[in-house]
Amino acid sequence: MDPKALDELLLRAAGHAIRYRSTVADGPQGAKRSFIDMRQVFSAPVPETGCDAATLIDELSRDAEPGLNAMTGPRFFGWVIGASHPVGVAADWLTSAWGQNTGNHVATPAAAAVEAVAAGWLLDLLDLPRACSVGFVTGATVANFVCLAAARGAVLRKLGWDVEAAGLFGAPPITVMIGDDAHTTVFSALQFLGLGHDRVVRVKTDAQGRIVVADFAAAMGAVSGPCIVILQAGQINTGAFDNFAELIPLAHDKGAWVHVDGAFGLWARATPAHRHQAAAIETADSWATDGHKWLQTPYDCGYAIVRDEAAHRRAMTIAASYLPPTQEGERDPSHYVPELSRRARGFATWAIIKHLGRQGIAAMVERHCRVARQMAEQFKSEQGITVLNDVTLNQMLLRFGADEAPDQADILTQQTIARIQRDGVCFAGGARWRGQQVMRLSVISGETTEADGRIAADAICAAWRIVRQQPRDQPL
Ligand SMILES: *Cc1c(COP(=O)(O)O)cnc(C)c1O
Repeated sequence: MDPKALDELLLRAAGHAIRYRSTVADGPQGAKRSFIDMRQVFSAPVPETGCDAATLIDELSRDAEPGLNAMTGPRFFGWVIGASHPVGVAADWLTSAWGQNTGNHVATPAAAAVEAVAAGWLLDLLDLPRACSVGFVTGATVANFVCLAAARGAVLRKLGWDVEAAGLFGAPPITVMIGDDAHTTVFSALQFLGLGHDRVVRVKTDAQGRIVVADFAAAMGAVSGPCIVILQAGQINTGAFDNFAELIPLAHDKGAWVHVDGAFGLWARATPAHRHQAAAIETADSWATDGHKWLQTPYDCGYAIVRDEAAHRRAMTIAASYLPPTQEGERDPSHYVPELSRRARGFATWAIIKHLGRQGIAAMVERHCRVARQMAEQFKSEQGITVLNDVTLNQMLLRFGADEAPDQADILTQQTIARIQRDGVCFAGGARWRGQQVMRLSVISGETTEADGRIAADAICAAWRIVRQQPRDQPL
């Protein structure tokens, strides 16, 4: 591409990005167009001839924006979704422009080295054993997969079975112990690993989704042979933490590998105000967490953290004659993840940590938790709204129509969600919890402040008042 065209293309894209990001706070927080609309907008036969690059970027920006959700906006409370911090976005632009294949350190010394440094920073911030290995993966789903692959290999190796070479056929059976309210993607990871999403021992949980210690102790008592225990830091609906201090020793007594899914909850460790909630988590054997949730890295980014580096590397080994060996002190990014070729995720992670610093990250996590508590207080004082969980972190479950029959409250809750999504002041979605329809709010978007929390809570209360007053036979 000639230098002038390159200049115009990249500046054009930057211009659209900057305009989008600087107006996202004021626009509607939900998408204006549906998938079907968007499909129509983009639908066309394969282009036979090419077109001008800069014009195409204008077109992409114009056509896509109405179908974007304001996930980077300050009043987006849907799902558990980070907000692509601008510093991470800037580092990510460079990452794309540099186009580094981050398989090994010889091919890309800079990307491999920055990843090694960022890995150390993550262990320090999350206060996990500093000798752990860290794989930079696409998200917590794959981080769970990587950690559980290491676990599978390690527990079988103790019995002399080399699962990486011999596979699972004929292997000693592994008991997998998991809480009843584990995240659905952990079951996916088990499914990918041949451990089966149903071939598990599910342990009862309490009202907040925490594993009941007595039930766990009883279940552990019945275990003999290789065992993997999966605990959770930050339940997706309630934000609750398992009781690591009591559960992990029970598991270790039986020689089990303890894995923790801490996609967002592990970041409670980054602030003195919340770290007690994840006390003793550092005694586990592996941890999965996300960069693209609480740390606000651009998509996609997650971290697979493993205490036993050898088990981690054995599970992820890729060997080929053209891949250079590593010497003492060197680190190949591909040794810790399933992929060989991939994006240099370390740059954005490094940039955000360097920009915010330990104190900035702690302040952000604390602020989000404070906003969640404030919002919960406001909802508790509004007639007909029930806050279903203990708001101890950033997650909140609301039910509308407290004094109505359960199916009526389900409908009123759905109507309030639909109404709030139409209003566009903030975005919140639905979920089911303990058989009931709920509105789920997640305070985790980088720029969300106390003021945003108030605006959003006011809008949700206002939507609820309208729903409450409408005739009851109206269709959804
Ligand atoms: C989001 C989440 C996951 C899955 O993470 P992805 O980044 O979407 O792959 C797993 N566990 C929990 C608790 C989560 O919140």
